[in-house]
Amino acid sequence: MSTYRASPLMGQMMDQPLLISSIIEFADRHYGHSEIVSRRVEGDLHRYTYRDCHRRARQLANALAALGVEMGQRVGTLAWNGYRHLEAYYAISGSGAVLHTINPRLFADQVAYIVDHAQDQYLLFDLSFLPLVTAIASRCPSVKGWIALCDAERMPDSALPNLLCYETLLAQQTDDFSWPRFDENSAASLCYTSGTTGHPKGALYSHRSTLLHAYGSAMPNALNVSSHDTVAPVVPMFHVNAWGLPYSAPLAGAKLVLPGSALDGASLYDLFEAEGVTFSAGVPTVWLGLINHVMQHGLRFSTFRRTVIGGAACPPAMMATLIDELQVEAIHVWGMTEMSPIGTTGGLQVRHLAQDLPAQRAVLQKQGHAVFGVDLKIVDDAGVELPWDGVSCGNLLVKGPWVISRYFGDEDSALVDGGWFPTGDVASIDADGYMQITDRSKDVIKSGGEWIGTIELENIAMAHPAVLQAACIGLPHPKWDERPLLLVVLRQGVDLTLEQMLQFYEGKIAKWWTPDAVVFVDSLPLGGTGKLLKNKLREQYRDYHFAGASQGR
Ligand code: AMP
Repeated sequence: MSTYRASPLMGQMMDQPLLISSIIEFADRHYGHSEIVSRRVEGDLHRYTYRDCHRRARQLANALAALGVEMGQRVGTLAWNGYRHLEAYYAISGSGAVLHTINPRLFADQVAYIVDHAQDQYLLFDLSFLPLVTAIASRCPSVKGWIALCDAERMPDSALPNLLCYETLLAQQTDDFSWPRFDENSAASLCYTSGTTGHPKGALYSHRSTLLHAYGSAMPNALNVSSHDTVAPVVPMFHVNAWGLPYSAPLAGAKLVLPGSALDGASLYDLFEAEGVTFSAGVPTVWLGLINHVMQHGLRFSTFRRTVIGGAACPPAMMATLIDELQVEAIHVWGMTEMSPIGTTGGLQVRHLAQDLPAQRAVLQKQGHAVFGVDLKIVDDAGVELPWDGVSCGNLLVKGPWVISRYFGDEDSALVDGGWFPTGDVASIDADGYMQITDRSKDVIKSGGEWIGTIELENIAMAHPAVLQAACIGLPHPKWDERPLLLVVLRQGVDLTLEQMLQFYEGKIAKWWTPDAVVFVDSLPLGGTGKLLKNKLREQYRDYHFAGASQGR
């Protein structure tokens, strides 16, 4: 219900709820022949159209009704990006139940916690997750049935109680189903944050928030999705609804290419080339694999022209390779689970085109300006708003119709300061509204009363040709409170000394920002969504002593 005052003269337009089912209905009617191509866990490519997807989603909606799933009840999914998962997206939300996408890369204990917390009634899973499902089943009393996303021939021989076959359930139903109409503020889908501390927390999206996000994110200055595109969401459908692409691509009539579980560079390259992918979206670690494959084998893309990169900062060196070497336009996006997820998108505006290359790259390196619908501000630790001068850094707060107001199951509001959501990110905003993330507030290094942003230190390290990956963490220091330690993964077959790494910082940043030490490591710990687990690194290096720093206080 609206909390806003009604005018004595209300508008006289149709009161039509914004519902997720309308997207697949629209795609069926107007782009019914647009293709959806999926790499299946079975290993082959599956190919059909939006019209087929809509038909099978209606069959699934009938199957859910036959199983007794009611409006508002949660149905979980543990699945890769694929056509059956897409059918679940529309059938579950469209029939008024709540699609609960679960990140299978979380620990089994966390998955069990999430399923129980959400009180999932049924859970649909790809066969690759059978061991996970078997491990957690006894701890998920709310689940009445486990639905394997396969046909009868591939049904596993398993002792899992109430194991059901997806294709058999569909085959038992007709496609005669009319999508129900209900309040657009009804819950539509649920996604738990991949929080690195404490229990995961659920963001419960509504039909209205999802549709507005789909409209807003598809716009030309945002993801710019159209019916001329072939869109490959590499970002998983189990993490913040693949950045809304399963909604914005059908809404725009784009061909969809769903890569399944094969996310290595070679598999992605082959799929992009075979299906004529023009646009994709993913986190930097995924692009790292794809770029390495392409560069090592001297390959080039024939259709892939644009990608959005988010979830973590895209290092300038990666952006330069994509743009200069591979002719792929690389655009930063920033957002979070709590924001459905898109908040800002980068890219150049017309007036930037007259600037020189370094100035343009500096603009591209920022996380961008707000998508219409999202409002931003930065505040200091006392909550005082800071200027948009591109220099002042503060805690980033957001508001908008696709930003959460509280976490699922929480009584308390998640908002501060009269209705703003605190993102936990530290950022600057310039006079043109371009926002740049300098750090997560818990990762920023507090040295001698000043802040050092770790993203910039990592970006510089990764611009060195010998460096594959870098992470910077703040560790306790007896004099300065905290100082930066740089952890570096080198490219295969190259050498680099500590001195050479540190020399590389000279002239690029204030001297006191330079890391105090460098440790060369074989790999860096990544979380369930491909992000660096800095709390794990801080834990691992807790007892590290900077040479020359007396530990006595
Ligand atoms: P999640 O909710 O797992 O999607 O994580 C959201 C967090 O990822 C944000 O609060 C940021 O800290 C980080 N993040 C997302 N996009 C970017 C980006 N483009 N640059 C830097 N950090 C990002």
